[in-house]
Amino acid sequence: MQWQEELRQLAEIESPESGAITFYFQPQVPQNLSHREETILVKDLVEQAIHRHSRNGNSDGNRVRLRSDLQRILEIAEHLHGNHSRAKAIFSCSEKDLWREFDIPEIAGNTQLHVNSRFHLKPIADAVLAAKRCSVALVDRERARILDLFMDEVTEREQIADEIGRNVRSDGFNGYEAGHVERHVGNGVMRHVKRVTERLLEIRTEGQMDSLIIGCRPEMWPEIEPHLHAYLKQCFIGRITLDPALASVREVQEHAARLLDENRLSEQQARIREVIGEAQRNGRGSLGLRHVLTSLERGEVQTLLIGNTFAARAVECTHCGHLDTRLVEKCAICAHQTREQDDIGDALIGFALRSGANILHVDDGQFAKAGNIGALLRFRADQNTPEKLAG
Ligand SMILES: [Zn+2]
Repeated sequence: MQWQEELRQLAEIESPESGAITFYFQPQVPQNLSHREETILVKDLVEQAIHRHSRNGNSDGNRVRLRSDLQRILEIAEHLHGNHSRAKAIFSCSEKDLWREFDIPEIAGNTQLHVNSRFHLKPIADAVLAAKRCSVALVDRERARILDLFMDEVTEREQIADEIGRNVRSDGFNGYEAGHVERHVGNGVMRHVKRVTERLLEIRTEGQMDSLIIGCRPEMWPEIEPHLHAYLKQCFIGRITLDPALASVREVQEHAARLLDENRLSEQQARIREVIGEAQRNGRGSLGLRHVLTSLERGEVQTLLIGNTFAARAVECTHCGHLDTRLVEKCAICAHQTREQDDIGDALIGFALRSGANILHVDDGQFAKAGNIGALLRFRADQNTPEKLAG
């Protein structure tokens, strides 16, 4: 299942009795905590959560279920250390009979446990929604390897080997023969490169490639570049100079991670400029919490941009879900009781996921000054009024 859909389902979960448990396990790298210390840390988190929620006016049944879910998380955490280098996320809500575990890339922040009426989705959304399926093609004269890089993990997809010039070694001593062999070998390299780029194009058209990186020796690049189809060039994010025969997977991964980071940052910058520009000319952009909330509730949001340091308090209506930055006790729309949200970031992300919007986490000073929250809109409801359309 796609992450967007998986997270949307988690965002739908609401537990009036505060039985929604979110657990993120972030392995320490380098391992500066021993297994014992790490287990004690999780144990403390679990005990604090049990303590806090035994006084919260929960029903007995809920307390028992909460305790057993937390116990199960503790047991899993005890076995994670050492044999688990990746981060893990667990979502549990026994009230809704839900238990989900995911291996995820590194999250921002440490191991953490949250017990609330909704799941704490910001770290997982941040870690997985921006993840791209990246193909790294290591291309040499007669051999190529295609590696898939997704969410910090590298797997080898396939190897393509062509034999060139093996069976054409000429017995002739004259220049004509030598030139003939060279041309023949040259054609062989070209055929090999074409085969590789055609295969890459297939992977791309099958929807299994979001970005492409090519790794090769410098003298090979002029042989490869002319064969990259326009559709591959669209997602091509850079070249790594290396010897495919000698490069280790780790080395390739490090170079690729750097290129992906650069690419992510420049895409972020482009989106930020777009949102700020559109908002300034009153177009398809929304900036600042109050405007973004209105756009979300009108279903206008295509992509929600949320600053990494964004934090604000707000209330959420327990009945209709309306979010309000004024800390009012009664909902302005349906007059039901509201519930205070310590961090409205989570509520916004949940809202965006439920309405099918994309989420982009950004880290940018200029954006932070502009409110640290913004949205790119599909449309603007207030500009589709009969008066505007007539005008
Ligand atoms: Zn309401």
